[in-house]
Amino acid sequence: MIYDWSREQVEDNGSKVAVTLNEEYITYAELEMKSNKLAGQLIADGFSPGDRVGLFMDKTPKTIVAMLGISKAGGVYVPLDFKSPPERVIKVIKSSDPSLIFVDNHSIHHFQDLFHVKCELSFIPWVWWSDKEMKYADDSPPKFAYSDIEGHPNIPHQVVRDPNTAAHILFTSGSTGEPKGVVITHNNIISFINWAVPFFNMKEGERTSCHSPLHFDLSTFDIYGAFAAGCHLFLVPTDISINPKKLSGFILDNELDQWFSVPSALSYLSKFKAIPKGGFPSLKRLIWCGEVFPLPALKYWMENLPSVEFTNLYGPTEATIASSYYTVPEIPDDQTKIPIGISCEGEELLILDENMKEVLTGEIGDLYISGEGLSPGYWRDTAKTAAVFIDYTNVDGEKERIYKTGDLASVENDLVYFHGRSDYQIKSRGYRIELGEIEVALGHNEILREYAVVPIRRNGFEGTAIGCAYVGPELKNGELALVLKEKLRSKIPAYMMPHYWQEYEVLPRNGNGKIDRKKLSENFEK
Ligand code: AMP
Repeated sequence: MIYDWSREQVEDNGSKVAVTLNEEYITYAELEMKSNKLAGQLIADGFSPGDRVGLFMDKTPKTIVAMLGISKAGGVYVPLDFKSPPERVIKVIKSSDPSLIFVDNHSIHHFQDLFHVKCELSFIPWVWWSDKEMKYADDSPPKFAYSDIEGHPNIPHQVVRDPNTAAHILFTSGSTGEPKGVVITHNNIISFINWAVPFFNMKEGERTSCHSPLHFDLSTFDIYGAFAAGCHLFLVPTDISINPKKLSGFILDNELDQWFSVPSALSYLSKFKAIPKGGFPSLKRLIWCGEVFPLPALKYWMENLPSVEFTNLYGPTEATIASSYYTVPEIPDDQTKIPIGISCEGEELLILDENMKEVLTGEIGDLYISGEGLSPGYWRDTAKTAAVFIDYTNVDGEKERIYKTGDLASVENDLVYFHGRSDYQIKSRGYRIELGEIEVALGHNEILREYAVVPIRRNGFEGTAIGCAYVGPELKNGELALVLKEKLRSKIPAYMMPHYWQEYEVLPRNGNGKIDRKKLSENFEK
């Protein structure tokens, strides 16, 4: 179970720090004790195995205690993004149907707002999960508070010992605007961590990062990978996440051995050339996932940190954290395409055509994933689950369950290459165009720090138009677009050339830190 790793660290590393956030930290022994006590409190309160618990809190050591305590009591935690728009939070909470919501001193204002101003959720019992004085007590007091767990003995609770039960539910944005809850089991997580920790050679005492928010599954690797290896996990405070100087200082001052994030955080640092002169002497590994890492930014990182290992992880939430990897062997040149690589142990990537037959080498097809990481499906949504988790009979006649990622891919020299989302395929002036292909072509230039090619759906005669949003460092506005167009023209046919260009200081992001393509399209459509 996912709480076993930190439990096993207590014997040899109990006094070592497990998690730090700014001045706040917790040792492995305290983590185990507090989460045991919380489990005791939940059990005493009549908590039932399988109950969902909303984590309406910031990313802190106490929130991680809550995750472990809830798991030990047999519960399923649901990390919530309390800063996302209230309508969305309410949808997610109602959908996950929790028996409790944990609230802390960072989120209490937002919670009060949902509770009273919006008059929603007042029927759900809540927990005050903070050691700060609770200033906002009123007519709806919490069921219990952080200090109340002290009355419970330190017993290693483990109500459910079936690794095929749900550990957490992560809500991702659905294309219809309705958030979908991806159910992730203990086994899904265990299988990834059992591959990743030895693969990255993570060692006891190493100092590792947790940059992603808790509702995004990159943080699942950060947390449980660190506990499995006996590392010291440094939670990156949310307010420094978009400040290149502070982020760079964070890696340097905390002497991190490992950094894992979406590429955009790393692109920011490269845009502002924020890697210090002497590099990050302690850093051994830099891992990214979730998006393509723009080539100029990757080159900047690799040139400035020659002894660091750079690994691209690829995968959707539905297949748990990541399903393939590729360690970049040398600084790429402008023509290099960085693959998403080969499948992680226990996973398999399949590239199929519309008849569900494997495509030939070099051909682009739909990317499917099978293996240990596959989620049992979407929370209480059998129709959506059946649409993308499908039964498949492979060439040897064996039946397996596969997940349709919605991504396009090809295989060359036994390595898988990503070609964008299949739903980024548009018809423009009658031509069928993969927007991802234009992005790949854009990646082969030295100028852009960030870019995204998006559809612009107007009701005009031309059908869908193509927009390119970009962040370019040096040249001025129009001048830059001219140079870019020139370079791009030599790589793609004229009908694929973007019709509209918009320059940004930084590209807008969604809650996971990925480029917000929907917003970009809307900006073009205004
Ligand atoms: P999410 O479920 O939010 O992690 O999003 C999964 C999607 O992100 C995938 O289906 C891909 O479209 C994209 N993605 C994940 N990792 C990578 C990567 N290394 N390179 C390019 N795209 C990626």
